[in-house]
Amino acid sequence: MLLLFLRGIKMIIDVRLESLDSTSEAKVVRILKKTGEKVKPGDVLFELEADKSSFSVESSAQGIISEILVEESQTVKACDLMAKIDGTPCGQATASDDNGGFNYFGNLLKPRKQEMECDITIIGGGPGGYVAAIQAAKMGAKVILIEKDTLGGTCLNRGCIPTKSLVRSAEVYNNLKDAENFGCHAEKISVDIKKVVSRKDRIINQLVKGIDYILKKHNVKVIKGTGEIKDSQTVFVKEGVAEITIKTKNIIIATGSKSSSLPIPGKDLECVMDSSDALQMDELPEKMVIIGGGVIGMEFAFIFSGFGVDVTVVEFLDEVLAAFDSDIIEEISKIAKGKGIKIFTGSKVEQIIQGEDGQSIVVFSKDNEKKYISADKVLMAVGRQPSLDGLDVASLGLELNDKGRGIKVNEKMQTNIPNIYAIGDVTNRVLLAHVASHQGIVAVKNIMGVPSEIDYNVIPSAIFTDPEIAMVGIGEKAAKKQGIDVEVGKFPFAASGKALTMGESRGFVKIIKQKCTGKILGGAIIGPHATDLIAEIALAVKKGLTCEDVIETVHAHPTTAEAIHEAVLAAESGAIHFVN
Ligand code: NAD
Repeated sequence: MLLLFLRGIKMIIDVRLESLDSTSEAKVVRILKKTGEKVKPGDVLFELEADKSSFSVESSAQGIISEILVEESQTVKACDLMAKIDGTPCGQATASDDNGGFNYFGNLLKPRKQEMECDITIIGGGPGGYVAAIQAAKMGAKVILIEKDTLGGTCLNRGCIPTKSLVRSAEVYNNLKDAENFGCHAEKISVDIKKVVSRKDRIINQLVKGIDYILKKHNVKVIKGTGEIKDSQTVFVKEGVAEITIKTKNIIIATGSKSSSLPIPGKDLECVMDSSDALQMDELPEKMVIIGGGVIGMEFAFIFSGFGVDVTVVEFLDEVLAAFDSDIIEEISKIAKGKGIKIFTGSKVEQIIQGEDGQSIVVFSKDNEKKYISADKVLMAVGRQPSLDGLDVASLGLELNDKGRGIKVNEKMQTNIPNIYAIGDVTNRVLLAHVASHQGIVAVKNIMGVPSEIDYNVIPSAIFTDPEIAMVGIGEKAAKKQGIDVEVGKFPFAASGKALTMGESRGFVKIIKQKCTGKILGGAIIGPHATDLIAEIALAVKKGLTCEDVIETVHAHPTTAEAIHEAVLAAESGAIHFVN
C-alpha cells in the first residue's frame, strides 16, 4: 500500500551540507548546476573547500533544481540549506523507471553502470598509491585512484603517523614528570588516553583531508571501492550503487599489507590486539605483553611503558630489533630495562590462555622450559604480510615472489605483465612507507617513458623508540659478513653540548667507513633526533662521499648534527670532543 502511494511521487527535497563537523566552515568554490537543470543521484552540485581540502556535495535525488541558495565564495556551515530539488529522493521510483510492475527495492538497489578511461589506474591510496597518483598527474597522465577505505593507507591511518602521535604524547607526559630536573614544577600529572587517541585522530583527519585536497587539485579521480583487475586493461570497481568499468592503459597495484598473526591457540581471544587495535584503546591496561620484539613491538613497548603500563616483550630471536648492529641492540635493551620494560629473547610464544580472573596468560618456551606471564592485554606484533585481497593473481597470471609472499616486480616496479606495476608492501621487498612512495615514483616514471630504478642500498630506517634509532647503508655486522674491510667511528651524545642541554645523554652516532676508499658506506644513530639526523648520512652514502667531504662541511653549533661530524672525524683522524 505504502509502496503504491510512493509510486512516482514528487516533492521538494532539501540539499543540505552534511559532511562537515559542527565546528568547521567551508567555502563554496564552484556551483556546477543551475536552477531549472535536471539532476540525478550522484551528480555533483557543489564543490567546497575546508581546512585546505576539497569535497563535493552530490544530489541524492532525481529531478529539477528549483532553487540554489548559496553563491560562489560564500562560507557555509554544517546543515546549511544549499539548494532545493523538485523531484524524487534517491531510491524512490519515478514514472519513467516503471516498466510494468513497481519494484521499490529493485530500483533502490539498481546498479548504475559507468565506463571510464584513463592512462593509469592505481589500486590503493596509501603512501605508495597516492604519491604515485600525484606524480603521474604532475607528469600529465590521466589518473584514477581506487581506495576502499581512507586515503593515506596504513601509514597515515594505522601506522607511522598515529604511532608518532602517541610517541609524542608519551614524551610530553615524561617531560612533565621530569620537570624538576629542568628547574620547573609540574603537579597532578596524568595521562588521559581518550584525549591522547582523539588528538591522534585529529592529526590523521587533517592529513587525510590534505591528501584529498592535493589529489583533487591535480585532477586525480578518486573512487571509493575495491578495485578488481579483470584483465591487463580493465579494472572494475563498485562505488555505492555505481558499477564502474575502467579502461586503462596501465595499472599500479599498491594494496599494501596487513598484520600477521601467530597460528597459536588463543590468538583470537578478546585480550589480543594487533597494532591497529593498540592505537584505539580507550583505557590503559596495567600490564601488557607484546609478542615480537621487532620494530612495531619495540615502538609500542616504549609508548605504553611511557604511559606507565607494565610492559613485557617476548621475542623469538636471540635479540630484539635483530636487523641492527649489536652495539645498538645492547644500548636500546639497556635503556628499555632502565625504564622497566622486561624483555625475554630466544622465547617462542606458544599459547595465550584466558584466566578465570579475566587476565590473559601468555605461554612461551625459553631454553626448553615453559614460562607464563599474565597481562590485561596482549599485543601481537609478529610482522606484516602483503595484502592481495580482491586481486585474483592466479587468473591474471601475475607472478609472485618465492613462497608466494608478495607480487614479484623488477627494478622498474614492473610485474611479469608489462603494463601492470606493483609498489609498496604488496611487493614484500622493504615494508616502509618511504620505500613505497619512492617505488611509486619509479613506477610512474617508467610508465611515462622516463627510465628509473630504486637503490635499495640506501634506504634509511627510523625507529621511534625512546631514544630514537636510525640506520642507513651497510651496518658493521653486514660489512663483516660481506667481507668488506671497514673502519668504525663513534661519538657518544654524552659528549654533545646540545644533547646535554636537552637532558639527552643516551646513545651515539656510528659511521661505517670503507678502509681503502675512505667512503662512508653506512651509519647508525641511537639518541636524540636520530631519525632526522640520518638524512645527512643517507646523502653521504648515496653520493659516495668520503669522510673528508663531511669533515670539510661546517656543521652548525650547538646542534645534535655535530655528533655526525665528530663520528666521521672519529672514523678518520679522531674526534675533537671525545677521547676513546
Ligand atoms: P618484524 O618482522 O620487524 O618483527 C616481528 C618479530 O616477531 C620478529 O622479531 C620475530 O622474530 C618475532 N616473532 C615471530 N614469531 C614469534 C613468536 N612465536 N614468539 C615470539 N616472537 C616472535 O615485524 P613488525 O615489528 O610486526 O613490523 C612489520 C613491518 O612493518 C616490518 O617490515 C617493519 O619494518 C614495518 N614497520 C616499520 C616501522 C618503522 O620503520 N618505524 C614501524 C612499524 C612497522
